[in-house]
Amino acid sequence: MSQSPLDQPAVKGHNTLETDVLIIGGGVTGAGIMRDLALRGLHTLLIDKRDLCAGASGGNHGLLHSGGRYVSNDRHSAIECRIENEILKRLAPQCVEQTGGLFVAVEGDDLEFAEKFPQFCAAAGISCTEIGPNEALRMEPLLSEKLVKAYLVPDATVDPFRLALENVAHARLLNDSIYRPHTEIIDFRIDNGKITAAICRDNRTGVMFNIQARQYVNAGGAWAMNIAQKAGCTDVNLLYSKGTLLVSHDRMAGHVINRLRPPADGDILVPGGTVSVLGTTSVHTDNLETVRPTVAEIDRNVMEGAAMIPALATARYIRAFSRVRPLLQSSPGEDGRAATRGFALLDHTSQGLTNFCTITGGKLTTFRLMAEKTADLVARRLGNTQACTTDSVALPDGDACRWTEPGAAPRYWYKANNADDMILCECEMVPQSAIDEIVKCAPGAEAEMTLEAIALRSRAGKGPCQGSFCGIRIASYLYDRGYYRDTTGLTHMRDFFNERFKGMRTVIWGRQAAQMELAEALHCGLLGLDNLDSDCPEMAILP
Ligand SMILES: Cc1cc2nc3c(=O)[nH]c(=O)nc-3n(C[C@H](O)[C@H](O)[C@H](O)COP(=O)(O)OP(=O)(O)OC[C@H]3O[C@@H](n4cnc5c(N)ncnc54)[C@H](O)[C@@H]3O)c2cc1C
Repeated sequence: MSQSPLDQPAVKGHNTLETDVLIIGGGVTGAGIMRDLALRGLHTLLIDKRDLCAGASGGNHGLLHSGGRYVSNDRHSAIECRIENEILKRLAPQCVEQTGGLFVAVEGDDLEFAEKFPQFCAAAGISCTEIGPNEALRMEPLLSEKLVKAYLVPDATVDPFRLALENVAHARLLNDSIYRPHTEIIDFRIDNGKITAAICRDNRTGVMFNIQARQYVNAGGAWAMNIAQKAGCTDVNLLYSKGTLLVSHDRMAGHVINRLRPPADGDILVPGGTVSVLGTTSVHTDNLETVRPTVAEIDRNVMEGAAMIPALATARYIRAFSRVRPLLQSSPGEDGRAATRGFALLDHTSQGLTNFCTITGGKLTTFRLMAEKTADLVARRLGNTQACTTDSVALPDGDACRWTEPGAAPRYWYKANNADDMILCECEMVPQSAIDEIVKCAPGAEAEMTLEAIALRSRAGKGPCQGSFCGIRIASYLYDRGYYRDTTGLTHMRDFFNERFKGMRTVIWGRQAAQMELAEALHCGLLGLDNLDSDCPEMAILP
């Protein structure tokens, strides 16, 4: 196996890269498989057509489920969540905030269901303690005064970006496994029941090249069905359920707050650093590429959420986003809410392939278990007898990932007076040194760090101004350092603001509308980014 070519960009003329295991999809599942296999001594190459967490892993609630949400309709998934929740709290505490969770019922909710909740939890082994409405209101003052029931469960929050970054960082450290962004699977070459090469495209340069591996893992999340079909496998059946979430300007609760009813729209509020995330809807979709929040979904989330927490009706929202859940389809026409949150590992032997498998479905909470099951299969096929250790070896707390931490800003206020390390993102207190660190730790094949890639590895752009100022400052800083030349920085700024704008367009009312006007004046009026010479439909429709 040759490893060195993998560190080179495909444009340098290496037409074939080699590894033990090719993992397709840089969500939490792919990142988890990469680390698990590296811990067993196997070399991997992880690719994503965009970048880490570009799919559902970067667009969820960040709720580390206790399992409480699934106790009434999906006990198996509830138990998996309970076990994985405990493992992650113990082994990856830097990615978890132990907020605790509340399940609350308000007047008009089904009291019979609420009464049965402790029994459902007991059956799944989940701890559940009833507290009185006054005690709940003391803990969470924004809860509705119409509260009739409240239970405490061990829900928590988890930072999926940090989780993925740290899994990848650990694998790279363990055995030089490689992560390669902007690399898309286009096709497979198959011979005699085996994949002999994956045909890939570097989406930055358009250059095509091959990856040869002994085993190929499809961790493509919602795209897993399409990827499997490229290898001729028709045994992956997914239901696509789009979910839309809103990000509030402030942190509105200390605990994760769940509505005590069978899963429905707008019934979870998850605190995350300085903000809270409200959601989510569940709408069937066939479209994986241009998934966007709609005004109707926003209204529905806010209306339903306000029954639990009235302040949600008047809160300022800074962003909304949508992603697609890959749900396992057991029967045609199945409803997304009813589908299991369990996962499936398909070995594709019935499809005539012996070195390909697909892992899909599941939850962010259960990603480690999904990775374990996949790595068990892959290791067995490669004759590797090492057992999984991700349930006992702590995830190292890497420095390169610390800038993703929500709510870190106040701890860095002291830096504000440091003239040698100016703050570039004031909403989230990201200093120059953070940008230096992030650029230094960029994946080998990342020829140039875009603003979007920096935002993925830090909190830059995630605060109330949604990157209006820090996007310009970070680009200027990278120009000063000679990192961006010509119009590169302008293009990256345009793409970055474009991405931010996508998230704002359905929440432009009240104070966020004024923020948006300011952003438009800066980006289009001052910098003329809407006139940059390339396709930019979003900028053209700024209000
Ligand atoms: C709205 C919503 C809210 C959720 N909330 C929670 C929550 O609070 N808690 C929880 O536990 N779970 C939650 N989930 C579920 C959770 O987010 C997902 O189960 C999990 O992130 C899936 O991770 P994954 O790595 O399997 O897939 P993904 O994260 O979707 O990763 C798949 C990757 O494959 C890449 N890819 C696709 N095609 C190709 C190709 N041809 N070549 C190369 N790469 C490709 C994509 O770019 C993507 O990055 C939520 C899901 C949604 C949609």
